Order: sequence, then structure tokens, then C-alpha cells
Amino acid sequence: MKRYSFLELAKNAFSAHQNWGRQWRSPEPKAEYDVVIVGAGGHGLATAYYLAKQHGIRNVAVIEKGWLGGGNTGRNTTIVRSNYLWEESAALYNHAIGLWQGLSQDLNYNVMYSSRGVMMLAHTVHDVQVAQRHIHANRLAGVQNEWLTPEQAREYCPPLNISKNIRYPVMGAALQRVGGTARHDAVAWGYARGADDLGVDIIQNCAVTGIKRGQDGAVEGVETSKGFIKAKKIGVVAAGHTSTVMDMAGVRMPLESYPLQALVSEPVKPAFPCVVMSNTIHAYISQSDKGELVIGAGTDQFISYSQTGGIHITNHTIDAICELFPHFRRMRMLRNWGGIVDVTPDRSPILSKTPVPGLYVNCGWGTGGFKATPGSGHVFAHTIAKDEPHRINAPFTIDRFRTGRLIDEAAAAAVAH
Ligand SMILES: Cc1cc2nc3c(=O)[nH]c(=O)nc-3n(C[C@H](O)[C@H](O)[C@H](O)COP(=O)(O)OP(=O)(O)OC[C@H]3O[C@@H](n4cnc5c(N)ncnc54)[C@H](O)[C@@H]3O)c2cc1C
Repeated sequence: MKRYSFLELAKNAFSAHQNWGRQWRSPEPKAEYDVVIVGAGGHGLATAYYLAKQHGIRNVAVIEKGWLGGGNTGRNTTIVRSNYLWEESAALYNHAIGLWQGLSQDLNYNVMYSSRGVMMLAHTVHDVQVAQRHIHANRLAGVQNEWLTPEQAREYCPPLNISKNIRYPVMGAALQRVGGTARHDAVAWGYARGADDLGVDIIQNCAVTGIKRGQDGAVEGVETSKGFIKAKKIGVVAAGHTSTVMDMAGVRMPLESYPLQALVSEPVKPAFPCVVMSNTIHAYISQSDKGELVIGAGTDQFISYSQTGGIHITNHTIDAICELFPHFRRMRMLRNWGGIVDVTPDRSPILSKTPVPGLYVNCGWGTGGFKATPGSGHVFAHTIAKDEPHRINAPFTIDRFRTGRLIDEAAAAAVAH
């Protein structure tokens, strides 16, 4: 892989950074691949990277209808944490945290992983009980999580308003110090560069329009806007559009797609040291390296494929943020946007083989899949390469909605950012 070095940085600085080489190729699709991945978001690109790097499967194409990282990967608020309730989830997200810690070195690309701590606020007695249950369960599973009193929470995040006579009083918080943020674009670009370097073809502006199956029911390839591409195996990693893509192979998915919104403020000097989330009011906030406050809201209450979302949702979030952080009342918001998130009934992802031989699916990350990107790609690559799940994703089947062996993070937290 092309390595970056101080010498190269200095050399390019003298030519106004005009002579950096291309980070990845833009090849025309070949007639046939061992594996085709549908969707060049972080999860699809990571899958391709680990297929090539860990399993030596390099005849791989990642097919993307838009530009790589232009889906939810480039639209999220970049929160990384692993303090989910159930052991299956904690194992999956903790696997990702392990990979985040060495990812910049592995990819030789700065993904700006910053473990500044994620603090989840409790506003009611119910919230306190839920948070403490999570902390106990996490500690039993070896996942770091600790309880803070309101005063300790303010010490960790000085702008936090802990007065008692507000609509959402802070009754305490769960803090995961190893949690934090990473730069979303850099994650997509780093994996794209790494995968391309190992021989993976990343084909942008090419929509998958059909999945062809043979007489025996197994996949034969994909129809695309650039023609038919033969494939021995197909991995669908299309987030909010998973149900429409899987429908092309005749597989009905237990998914609903909702708009989820985020917004950023004008940039200011460093004022916010960590990530703060409130599941009760569906608000989460951090400060980017550019200085913008990055704020996430809740999902709309109706299913939709429009990447916008209702204004009342963001207004509600901003109201609550202004009450919790009165400092920010006079700040201006610069832009807002939405993404389409794919939500399962138990709010846990599906990382699985399917009833169709040669077809695999990675979806259902809903409002919280960015944090899992390296871990998800790693275990999904294993599933495709070996035609059987890695022990970490073995519980995350489609079948669980038939057998009833749910991983019910929905009941545990109501949201899963
Ligand atoms: C506003 C918002 C805030 C969020 N905040 C967080 C957060 O703080 N922390 C967190 O962990 N997660 C968060 N998430 C969720 C997270 O962004 C996603 O779970 C994650 O990025 C999903 O990655 P992906 O690679 O699966 O999907 P995507 O990045 O969406 O990639 C899927 C790709 O498939 C492509 N595609 C779809 N259909 C086709 C087709 N027919 N042919 C070819 N290509 C196709 C799409 O164009 C897209 O690029 C948030 C999401 C949103 C929208």
C-alpha cells in the first residue's frame, strides 16, 4: 500500500498539494467477480478490504449507485461506543472498538478516532434504572461503562446544565470513556484506498437493478446500469435501501426505512470536550475538529425514502439542547440533512447468510451502525469467505425473527445511536 510519510507531506507542501496521486482507481466493471458487494458505504468497503486482506479474495467489486461514502456513512454524527445491553451486541461493538484503536495505522490513513468519552444522560427515574442496568450488564461482559452523579457529569462536560428546575433535569449519566468519534469520510476513504490497493474494483455511479438467480436458486450475478456482472457470491450492504435490493432476489426483509436527521452549527473554538447523548429526548451532540457542533435528532415517525425529514423533529432536539446547554442558545445552525436508516424490529443488525445460496446481507444498523463499521466489515467478510458466520455475528441472523431469539436492544434503550 502506498504509505504516507513526513517527507512526502513536506514535498507536496512545496507544490501547493497539487501533485498527490489518485487515492483509488475508477475501473470499468469486469465481466465476472468472485464477490460483488452492493453498496460502497463504510460497511461495504470494509467488507471488501477484509475479504482481500484477511481472506485473500481479491477478485471483488464494490458497486455503488452514487459516490462512495455518500449514503449514511457520510451523513452520520460519528458516535462510537460499545455499551449496549445484550452480550451479543456488546461483543460485536466491542470487536469494532478494538479495530478502531488501530485503524489509522492499519489503513495508513488518519480516521481521526478520538476516544473523548460518550456520556449518556438520565433524566427520569426510569432512565437511571435503565442506565444502571446497562452498566452492570456491561461490566459483567467486560465492557467499560461507569455511573456519574450530576455533579460528576458536569465536571466531565462543563457546559452541561444540571439545575433541577428544567424540563429534562440531569439525574446522572453513564460514561463510556473509550467511546468517542471518528471522521466518517476518512473511514470510507481509508477503506476505499486500502481495498483498491489490494485489487478490489470500486465502481461508482452504477446502480444495481436486479439480482439474477439460476435454476438451482443460487445467485448468478447482478444487473446494473453498466450491464450484467457475473458473481459467485453477492453481499448486500445497502443500508436504507436493503429491502428494495433484497427484493430483487425475492427475499423479503424484516426492515422499515426511516429518515434520520442531523445538523451542524457555525464553527467555534473548542467548547465541548466529549459526546453527550440523551435517548429520552433523542438528542446527541459533539464538537467536530472544525469546531462545528454536530447534533443528531430522532427518526421521523413515518417510513420514507426522502432524505429530508420533518422540521419539527430537529426543532424539538434543538429546544432540548438549548435547555441542557444554555451556552449554545445564541449559536446559528449552518446546515441540516437526513439519511435513510434501516430499522429491524429488535433494533439489532442482521449480518447473515440468506435462504438464497451465495447471497449474504449486512443491514439493520438503523440509527447506530457507523460505530460498528470495522467490526461489521471484518465479521461479514468472514461470513462471505467461509460461507458461515464468525462466532461474533452468529446470533445476528434473519432467522431470529422467526425463531424468536431476538437481541432486543429496542426494549433495552428504545434507540441505538
Ligand atoms: C443523521 C444520521 C446520524 C447517524 N448517527 C450515527 C452515530 O452517531 N453513530 C453511529 O454509529 N451511527 C449513526 N448513524 C447510522 C450510520 O450512519 C449507519 O448505520 C451506517 O453509516 C451504515 O453504513 P452502511 O455502509 O451500511 O450504509 P451506507 O453508508 O448508507 O451505504 C450504503 C450504500 O449503498 C448504496 N446503494 C443503495 N442501493 C443501491 C443499489 N441499488 N445499487 C448500488 N448501490 C446502492 C447507497 O448509495 C449507499 O452509498 C446515523 C445515521 C444518520 C442518517
